[in-house]
Amino acid sequence: MPIPGHIDPVPVPRAMPARADGRIDLLGMSKESVREALEAAGWDARQAKLRAKQLWHWIYNRGVTDFTKMTDIAKAQHPWLEERFVISRPDVVEAQVSTDGTRKWLLRSPDGQDYEMVFIPDADRGTLCVSSQVGCTLNCRFCHTGTMRLVRNLTAGEIVGQVMLARDALGEWPSQPEGRMLTNIVMMGMGEPLYNFENVKLALKLVMDGDGLALSKRRITLSTSGVVPMMERCGEEIGVNLAVSLHATNKDVRDEIVPLNKKYGIEDVLQACADYPGANNARRITFEYVMLKDKNDSDDDARELVRLLRKYRLPAKVNLIPFNPWAGAPYECSDPDRIRAFSNIVFEAGISAPVRTPRGRDIDAACGQLKTASEKKSRAELDRMAAQAAVQEA
Ligand code: SAH
Ligand code: SF4
Repeated sequence: MPIPGHIDPVPVPRAMPARADGRIDLLGMSKESVREALEAAGWDARQAKLRAKQLWHWIYNRGVTDFTKMTDIAKAQHPWLEERFVISRPDVVEAQVSTDGTRKWLLRSPDGQDYEMVFIPDADRGTLCVSSQVGCTLNCRFCHTGTMRLVRNLTAGEIVGQVMLARDALGEWPSQPEGRMLTNIVMMGMGEPLYNFENVKLALKLVMDGDGLALSKRRITLSTSGVVPMMERCGEEIGVNLAVSLHATNKDVRDEIVPLNKKYGIEDVLQACADYPGANNARRITFEYVMLKDKNDSDDDARELVRLLRKYRLPAKVNLIPFNPWAGAPYECSDPDRIRAFSNIVFEAGISAPVRTPRGRDIDAACGQLKTASEKKSRAELDRMAAQAAVQEA
């Protein structure tokens, strides 16, 4: 049943306007669409098929944006391609590097929309936090993105473009399986990825394609605020790890801080998690829990969280996120000893509950949704992280 007012999420399928120069951007197209575009531009079927394969390799394996560098495509064809096509990158408005190595980019689309991406290096991995929308329609009360008025879905090209740009910046071409800095992707930047399902799906398929960027689905995590009807499709059609922004254990509090809860309640979300295709003890679902002082951080909340995760027999890990305040935010972050006590209760029930260490504070990269992911750590590593975080907090 529709819920009146801003609570009822409005999917925003508006596509980006066509390029002013009339050229077609190949970035973000499936291999099949590239072939079709070449055919539509006048090449015969055989030629289009062969060239699509070559172009694909140059774009996603080599990171090339300039047709004249494509040495196995005849020189005479370069101007023809250049007149009709382009291989874009998002425009960088600002790029910052934190003292801890975290990098943040402010990007701009051709129609003047700004969005962010963040790269978080760790000793044994590097995680890119990718945006799926400009702004977000869901208005979670503790989230700065939810206060942005303008919302547009990012195109598949703009989503995969973030990964391409990060590879450019890190000098990680050609794609190679060993020794990469960028090893993991989290769809935890701006926006609700399951409200931009088709574009996110296409972009992640491009990221996972073995002939191109070749990142394993096990190294990709999609975070949702709980768009129940799309969760099964996410598991079946994309197949990446799932993170769910739970943040509360009872209806009143979750209704307040995650208004989407009025539409899809806690129990519905947890049932959808229990049904999530591909989740098991080796691939657990991450439950994100933002720590808000005197709102959701009591011992009873921690015990209720454990009860709920057990009730649905979820292969779960809990990620406790210290609330990252912003000007005008209606909440405060819980005290460090409160966070520690909460973590201990969950942890003693046999569920990993590391506290996320804020990163990139000096460049404001820890804007809440942008964070280090712990989804690929082993149990022992998670425990170590929890212990480390507790020591740091102390
Ligand atoms: N829309 C999706 C993904 C983007 S938000 C979702 O809500 O899951 C990614 C994560 O950052 C979510 O868990 C979100 O609740 C959290 N988050 C947002 N603002 C925050 C803040 N100010 N402090 C801490 N975490 C925040
Ligand atoms: Fe949107 Fe996620 Fe922020 Fe909620 S937490 S407003 S769903 S980006």
